[in-house]
Amino acid sequence: MDGAHEAGAGPGDGAVVLRWSSDGEPSSRSLWADLADAAGPRPARDPLDGDTTADVVVVGAGLTGLWTAYYLLEADPALDVLVVEQDVAGAGASGRTGGWYGAGPAAAAARIAAEHGADAARAARAALRDAVVEVGGVAAAEQVDCDLAVGGLLTVARTPAQLARLVAEAESARAWGDEAEELDADDVGTLARVPGALGGTLVPDIGRLQPVALVRGLVDVLTAHGARVVEGTRAVRLSPGAVVTDQGTVRAPLAVRATGDGAPAGARHALATEPLPADVWAAVGLRRGVVLADGTHRPVRALRSADDRLVLSLRTARRPAAVSGRDPAAVRRLHRALAHLLPDGVTARTTHAWGVALAGGPVPALGFDPGTGIAWADATGDDGVAAGNLAGRTLADLLTGSDGPLTRLPWVTRGATARPRASAAHRLADRAAAAARAGAAALADREERVTGRPSRLAGVVGAAGER
Ligand SMILES: Cc1cc2nc3c(=O)[nH]c(=O)nc-3n(C[C@H](O)[C@H](O)[C@H](O)COP(=O)(O)OP(=O)(O)OC[C@H]3O[C@@H](n4cnc5c(N)ncnc54)[C@H](O)[C@@H]3O)c2cc1C
Repeated sequence: MDGAHEAGAGPGDGAVVLRWSSDGEPSSRSLWADLADAAGPRPARDPLDGDTTADVVVVGAGLTGLWTAYYLLEADPALDVLVVEQDVAGAGASGRTGGWYGAGPAAAAARIAAEHGADAARAARAALRDAVVEVGGVAAAEQVDCDLAVGGLLTVARTPAQLARLVAEAESARAWGDEAEELDADDVGTLARVPGALGGTLVPDIGRLQPVALVRGLVDVLTAHGARVVEGTRAVRLSPGAVVTDQGTVRAPLAVRATGDGAPAGARHALATEPLPADVWAAVGLRRGVVLADGTHRPVRALRSADDRLVLSLRTARRPAAVSGRDPAAVRRLHRALAHLLPDGVTARTTHAWGVALAGGPVPALGFDPGTGIAWADATGDDGVAAGNLAGRTLADLLTGSDGPLTRLPWVTRGATARPRASAAHRLADRAAAAARAGAAALADREERVTGRPSRLAGVVGAAGER
């Protein structure tokens, strides 16, 4: 992507002229890692120095593993907690997010209700909303500076069909306890200037944060509280009573696998511009802390970073290309979305375009087998920053034997059945299902454009959006 590019802004959008320039290839490194390194790169922590013992060993220093270690120490500061990371903390999905943290889609509650009843679904939603508050609370209490700002998720309709669907989704979200507000075009304009906006919805339980700053801050807090965090140390086997790594064996009665595994769920892609000047922001009108989404079934999300970049992200069924970590089609779509946001005539240089395969579903999946002492938490899908916090708190409760509301949430598994590893056939089936959902979402958007009504297809084939 050398030089400047121009493209139409899409059917029916007439007014906006797209101009962007990447001035050569944008970096496929996550923006957040680069920003965190700007003040000086952080040297890797030492690997494990041969065999050792611990009370609990946590495998994986993504947000799920780090939150688990944090809440274990909060429950019992005397615990000897060791976190083992194969790369550096935050090297996985946790350091490569689109920059928001939220309670995830309310639509998932209906699925929980079908299996566990309405009360369980409402409790699950409440726990996920609480996790958003908790992340901010811990960051403030522990003085972790991670550019946190909470402005809510603004989803904007640009067709009557989208508006009707968003209103219906807001009604359904309220039934699960969410505060989803319906907005007219003027209300939308006070939060973001979106050409052609007819109205939208605002859900308050979502904000923006710098994930690598959060990861590094949590590592500092953990080590200050006496935990050991080792990097460059790969766990090769979790057995009852011991974790074998490539640097030595850790004997521990309790072990947690927080390695970001889970059902394949396609990929997420993100793109960041250079910092934009104040006059461009005045024209874009996107309030700090507000996460903006379009009203399609495959929404692009956009937010303003603390250093005034536009950061856009979307989900696709395709995994990012192994070499560049990017899917060119996804990057093109992100650039088109950028065109809708930028005022006519503005050129914004794209500095970063990154992507990562996504694992896990719309709600956390975790469990503990007291027989083996092994607990696990799968990657927590699209909204893993807040859901990882909830998973960490829940695992700490399970491991310290404190039975409470969190350990009774519907996604908690206990006993020897705790997460059998997915077979190759299951993994393929999961991937196929994710691809089918994404294909259905595209069809549903097309159906809405043609009929002008909310798509029926979306409900039939499960093209659940991610709002
Ligand atoms: C591009 C992208 C954008 C996203 N945007 C958002 C967003 O904006 N907001 C949001 O809430 N969620 C977002 N998500 C989802 C979120 O990032 C994940 O759900 C969450 O970070 C998962 O955290 P985790 O700790 O479970 O997994 P990870 O972050 O993947 O952590 C697992 C860690 O385990 C380590 N590990 C793996 N195997 C071993 C081993 N054998 N030994 C030792 N260590 C091991 C890995 O190196 C890694 O550091 C996004 C995901 C992607 C890919």
